[in-house]
Amino acid sequence: MKLNETEIADSYNDVWVLGEIVDGQVHKVTLELLGIARELADKRAVNNSKVVCLLMGSGLKGMETGLFYQSADRVIMVDDESLKFFNDSVYSSVVSRLIKKYKPEILISGATSKGRSLMPLVAVQIETGLTADCTGLDIDKESGLLLQTRPAYGGNIIATIKCENHRPQMSTVRQGVFKAIESDDTRTGELIVESVLEEEKRTRFTVLSEESYGDDSKINLHDANVIVSGGRGVKSAEGFEVIHQLANAVEGAVGATRATIDSGWISYAHQVGQTGLTVQPEIYIACGVSGQIQHLVGMQSSDLIIAINKDPDAPIMQLADVAIVGDLFEVVPEITKLLSN
Ligand SMILES: Cc1cc2nc3c(=O)[nH]c(=O)nc-3n(C[C@H](O)[C@H](O)[C@H](O)COP(=O)(O)OP(=O)(O)OC[C@H]3O[C@@H](n4cnc5c(N)ncnc54)[C@H](O)[C@@H]3O)c2cc1C
Repeated sequence: MKLNETEIADSYNDVWVLGEIVDGQVHKVTLELLGIARELADKRAVNNSKVVCLLMGSGLKGMETGLFYQSADRVIMVDDESLKFFNDSVYSSVVSRLIKKYKPEILISGATSKGRSLMPLVAVQIETGLTADCTGLDIDKESGLLLQTRPAYGGNIIATIKCENHRPQMSTVRQGVFKAIESDDTRTGELIVESVLEEEKRTRFTVLSEESYGDDSKINLHDANVIVSGGRGVKSAEGFEVIHQLANAVEGAVGATRATIDSGWISYAHQVGQTGLTVQPEIYIACGVSGQIQHLVGMQSSDLIIAINKDPDAPIMQLADVAIVGDLFEVVPEITKLLSN
């Protein structure tokens, strides 16, 4: 909503996280967002800002407890059979109505398929701005505005975006960008129960079921402690075999650059980077990857980065904690052999 200065200062506070449920559990990205929401709310203490998780779905009873442990001060729960399956029309109507009622200053959501579908609809209904795929969120010390950082123009610049005259300030963030804070089981909070209005349930279509399909759903780069990634240096689909072997030896997952996906050597589910996944493993091993900015934004927060490249001047070699100059077809099998013995 477009507002004048007095209205903004007087009536909008709190940092909201749009909670997400997957397979009956709170999605990991929701916990990560509660962590950054806590930081943002603490920086807006002057405004008495609280961390609020809006949780929508069916069969949610008791889930608020874990959200309080993860720093939510308040949970607004909408538990209704009509929310069992994701219908963006029903969900967006409910979110928009609750925003008008409670007036959050900030609303953040995971850049998941649901978040990407829901947040733009809400932004249009509420008439505010939305910054998608943020890689950083902070509060401007002077103005108190949300600083929303994200790569722009194909990753060639990093832009920091402010939403000055509309509320709430809305952002989506991919999984793996922020870390969840440690759970504190002494924390409690306030539970507010809301419902779905009858007119919100009347939509043009009904979602009858939800299912995930295909082998790609088993590729889980987000949960892997070690990721071994292949770039154009692997040269072919067959060349990825050495990458898979090393990943197996370290019980890790296989990542890839967009160049290899575009070449048809491996499926999109493996892509790391700006238009792929953002990951944060303990160890990221980049093999034959040059390290263009669009790839780096997806993996630069990894705890330890090892790069194997023929070119000592490749950008990834500057970022790496351990840079091995050499032919990946010699170096990678050697490491696999050492680890397998
Ligand atoms: C809008 C946009 C979005 C993008 N999104 C993504 C994204 O999400 N993820 C992504 O990865 N890219 C993305 N890209 C593409 C990105 O700009 C780069 O083109 C891509 O990351 C390069 O992939 P690469 O490192 O595999 O290939 P290259 O840049 O070609 O690098 C290959 C590297 O392999 C090394 N090499 C060659 N042979 C060997 C060998 N035998 N042993 C060791 N090293 C060897 C070379 O020295 C070189 O450094 C995007 C681009 C745009 C414009």
